[in-house]
Amino acid sequence: MLTDIEIAQQSTLKPIREITENLGLSEQDWEPYGHTKAKLSDQLVEKLADRPDGKIILVTSINPTPAGEGKSTVTVGLGQALNKIGQKAIIALREPSLGPVMGLKGGAAGGGYSQVLPMEDINLHFTGDLHAITSANNALAAMIDNHIHRGNELNIDPRRIEWKRVMDMNDRALRQIVVGLGGPLRGVPREDGFNITVASEIMAILCLAKDLKDLKERISKIVIGYTYDEEPVTVKDLKVEGALILLLKDAIKPNLVQTTENTPAIIHGGPFANIAHGCNSLIATKTAAKLGDYVVTEAGFGADLGAEKFLDIKTRAGDFEPDAVVIVATVRALKMHGGVSKDRLTEENVDALKEGMKNLEKHIETIQSFGLPFVIAINKFPTDTEAETTTIESWCKSRDIEVALTEVWAKGGEGGVELAEKVIQKTKSDDRSFQRIYDLSDSIEDKIRKIAQNVYGADGIELSSKAKKQIALYEKNGWGEMPVCMAKTQYSLSDDPALVGRPSGFMITIRELRPSVGAGFIVVLTGDVMTMPGLPKKPAALNMDVTEDGKVVGLF
Ligand code: ADP
Repeated sequence: MLTDIEIAQQSTLKPIREITENLGLSEQDWEPYGHTKAKLSDQLVEKLADRPDGKIILVTSINPTPAGEGKSTVTVGLGQALNKIGQKAIIALREPSLGPVMGLKGGAAGGGYSQVLPMEDINLHFTGDLHAITSANNALAAMIDNHIHRGNELNIDPRRIEWKRVMDMNDRALRQIVVGLGGPLRGVPREDGFNITVASEIMAILCLAKDLKDLKERISKIVIGYTYDEEPVTVKDLKVEGALILLLKDAIKPNLVQTTENTPAIIHGGPFANIAHGCNSLIATKTAAKLGDYVVTEAGFGADLGAEKFLDIKTRAGDFEPDAVVIVATVRALKMHGGVSKDRLTEENVDALKEGMKNLEKHIETIQSFGLPFVIAINKFPTDTEAETTTIESWCKSRDIEVALTEVWAKGGEGGVELAEKVIQKTKSDDRSFQRIYDLSDSIEDKIRKIAQNVYGADGIELSSKAKKQIALYEKNGWGEMPVCMAKTQYSLSDDPALVGRPSGFMITIRELRPSVGAGFIVVLTGDVMTMPGLPKKPAALNMDVTEDGKVVGLF
């Protein structure tokens, strides 16, 4: 089997014009970014308002191993499979971040014969959206420090600034820094820090805004910190919303590319699901729904993270609901949940697999509690044995749960036809009653508790004294009726990455909260989760290179 990058480099890409023509787009609806990428108009949704929306299929998974369980791969493969059986399907994915590309994952554009292309561009600088978001975020940081340096008319307390600088890289050395050192000409010293760009509130806003007007309104509402009297200070107070919008005017336009089988894919926005809300942009999803009969979209990590936030945050912002859910499971991750160490996951172990099914069971219960129809996709790896895959199939069948063995990594769309057919049936099923985990009118504490108990299976929550004070302050400031955006490890249902399977008898520790008033949610940090990740001991970057004839190697 070839590597991902070799398959990508051997694929024949159509000129992007052919893809736009097949979608029925006119010249005003898009602009080319080179031969194989385009930006779509951010006004397409409004222009096509009279068209009915296509069905939305959400792809989620069990708690993953560090290598990922193939959600993006299955999302791409399912889109290709739907097209193969004559449906008009479009894929809507997130943009990769350089942090995981250089760190552990080495790429995030699907895999095998189910990839989005050109994967080298998509995984690196793409159309510059992450750069634009980084620039807007850091322009605001510079304006804040300049405002304080120039006399601090707004009375901002430098010790209470919430707004952090960002960069698109895993760089633990920048988590906590001091800025403004060097005397009166170099600003006012204060403690600061960097987050990764994908955790920026600007990224979340870009992904939740309905249009340019909404983007501006949300940016104006960002709370950057507090005055000495503990009153919130906003972007509007600093009068910089116009400049920030200017920096984002092209980033708000969804990016169009194609897959290894030339299925259209919109790739736009990329918040992580462990430290942010984990879904591609609302504009991309809505545009895709206007252009296709089926939209296959992904929310990051397990159903405890991305899917919960897709359903509790994104569907509220966009006033829609998905028509069906796909839960991706792999033999290797299930064995990990059954207690097998990471270096032995390729060995057959049916007993551990059976034990690990408890993790899948919990995620199934979560999707059921949202009242949505679903199919389990077993993402088949070359090392899976028949005894192992049939164990999962029998487990599902004995519970009357629809399951499909999926081979889209090895075979492209052909390997996902069974899944596609089962998903179509589910989108037609009447057996649905979509309901969210909490009401906006619940207190902040109740919202967090409902997620912890119903989605993670915790006994309850433990709030630090800092978190308690923050909740009181946020409710006093009138921010109590927003959704909560949980930041939690992706490796466990609990807030302890070491607790695999389906842990019980645990509490979720709420360390601190951060208001994202522009995005319209409160970020809740649990356990030790970090909004600036670090690089592993052997980063994927060590294998990367460009050959003398310009070929990229080492992305996967
Ligand atoms: P996720 O979206 O869940 O994080 P990805 O789709 O990005 O996962 O896949 C993670 C990695 O695993 C990629 O390098 C991909 O090529 C590889 N992969 C995915 N599915 C398979 C499979 N069935 N067999 C072998 N490798 C796979």
